[in-house]
Amino acid sequence: MPFTPIHMGPGILFKSILQGSFSLMVFGWTQIVMDVQPLIVMISGEGHLHGFTHTYIGAVIIAIFAALSGKYLSELGLKLLGVSKKINPISITWWVVFLSAFIGSFSHVLLDSIMHSDVEPFFPFMMDNQLLGLITVPMLHKVCLYSGLFGAAIYFGFNLKVKRESKADNKRKL
Ligand SMILES: [Zn+2]
Repeated sequence: MPFTPIHMGPGILFKSILQGSFSLMVFGWTQIVMDVQPLIVMISGEGHLHGFTHTYIGAVIIAIFAALSGKYLSELGLKLLGVSKKINPISITWWVVFLSAFIGSFSHVLLDSIMHSDVEPFFPFMMDNQLLGLITVPMLHKVCLYSGLFGAAIYFGFNLKVKRESKADNKRKL
């Protein structure tokens, strides 16, 4: 568990690339669900810090759970944030929900396996973790941060372009 919000950096980059085919809300919810187990271990002082949730098999189960629980939770979140309007509220389609949850849990295991020595991503098939130390932890944090900034730039750049084009279109129609 690196600080959970760090995972949002790559999430923003995914959002900028996949646009409407990706839910950042569901992705974020998946990050929280992923780190519930390490949080309990940290508080109680018992058990394997990352354990089964931080394996690729665990990630499949977490993704399914996060998708099923995250759809309505995310739609509610979008309403509370004012992104989703009362008239014509945003409904996140199930395939987008599942895609976002799967990208969320798999990218989480991938990133955590680079920085934590106790993560066994390929359990029960392989106990060693080849990715450990692939890049240094400060570097990993930088990659996450910059991917978020880069993603935000693409996302807002793209939407600004779409807005301008639709404005230009409307003008032409007038
Ligand atoms: Zn984690």
